[in-house]
Amino acid sequence: MPPDGLYTCRLPNCGQQVQGTKTEVDKHLRDVHQLSKHGNVVCLWIDESDEEEEEENMLCGDKLQNQSLAKHICERHMRSLAVDCELCNNRQARIDNMPRHLKSCKVFHQCSPYLQSQIWSFLLPNKQFPGLDSYRENNRQRTE
Ligand SMILES: [Zn+2]
Ligand SMILES: [Zn+2]
Ligand SMILES: [Zn+2]
Repeated sequence: MPPDGLYTCRLPNCGQQVQGTKTEVDKHLRDVHQLSKHGNVVCLWIDESDEEEEEENMLCGDKLQNQSLAKHICERHMRSLAVDCELCNNRQARIDNMPRHLKSCKVFHQCSPYLQSQIWSFLLPNKQFPGLDSYRENNRQRTE
């Protein structure tokens, strides 16, 4: 994850910098790509390969509902929601999985209950995990 949390939009004719949160990507898709709320869409995101040959670039082509495109882009293309557990280095596909992961994380369970509660409250509000903003963002949306 880039330090400023910005990702390059790789949809055709774009290339703008977008923050890797679902909310920002969603806004970008609506403002710049005129994505409507309903209907279906084919994801035209082009994943750049590390190779120098241009033909290695892969057009996504996934068929999605309009409203799940932002999430798809965050997870699949920006990988902005992926996060490593700092205790056991287990990669979680999404920061949302983190609370559930902690419950089954072996390292976490070796800690005393006091330490566990410290970790719980320390890790989440202190940006220990990349993608935490997305986590907060998504949680806020859920509780609204
Ligand atoms: Zn764009
Ligand atoms: Zn895609
Ligand atoms: Zn863990």
